[in-house]
Amino acid sequence: CGIVGYVGNRPALGIVLDGLRRLEYRGYDSAGVAIVDGALLTEKRAGKLANLEKALADGAVAGLGEGTTGIGHTRWATHGGPTDRNAHPHRSHDGRVAVIHNGIIENFSRLRAELEARGVEFASDTDTECVAHLLAEELATVDGVTPEARLAEAMRRVCRLLEGAFTLLAVDAQAPGAVVGARRNSPLVVGRGAGENYLASDVSAFIEHTREAVELGQDQVVLITGEGIEITDFDGNVAEGRDYHIDWDA
Ligand code: GLU
Repeated sequence: CGIVGYVGNRPALGIVLDGLRRLEYRGYDSAGVAIVDGALLTEKRAGKLANLEKALADGAVAGLGEGTTGIGHTRWATHGGPTDRNAHPHRSHDGRVAVIHNGIIENFSRLRAELEARGVEFASDTDTECVAHLLAEELATVDGVTPEARLAEAMRRVCRLLEGAFTLLAVDAQAPGAVVGARRNSPLVVGRGAGENYLASDVSAFIEHTREAVELGQDQVVLITGEGIEITDFDGNVAEGRDYHIDWDA
């Protein structure tokens, strides 16, 4: 339902939670975050953001407050009930990747059956979780490039397997300064900062930090780092988003 991503030089957790709060008006049944800080740390809870914040304050996941790369999600369940385990982010079986998703992966049951046939165990009932496992599989086969480029290429390969409507964000423990995003039939906007960049389903998530935005086109993948924004289509051809200035008052 609501999606936020951040990479920069400030602690990501507060920025991501503030962004989610800005998207609360859309309604949701669960919330979760993933932060990259040496390792990949996730926390998620059914119910209001306050439930997630309480879990974070209880210190269930040490170190979550320090990392400067993070993603956050508010969920409106379509596949699998509104429970802690079905809340996003979803992690790959090897723990390396975390994924958040708006929309519906129409062909998820076939993808899930194929993954299960290869021995992957699922931890949720969502259509989304298959994306995390597929990303981990693809990451293991991309080589010869930087960790960030590897993450973007893995996302492109996975998107070519997916049908339906999706905004996806993913982080990789082995690419600590990057967030990758992708979209088809579902919105995703980049916020351009100074030494930091944002991704969100709606500009209101980052408007207090920057008013320079880039709207992605259909079937595009975007890789953000603190310094850069790289956009391609699902085949890897360099693409351009639409740059614009947000001039309304939030
Ligand atoms: N289909 C996904 C799920 O049920 C994402 C729902 C959403 O857009 O929040 O988990």
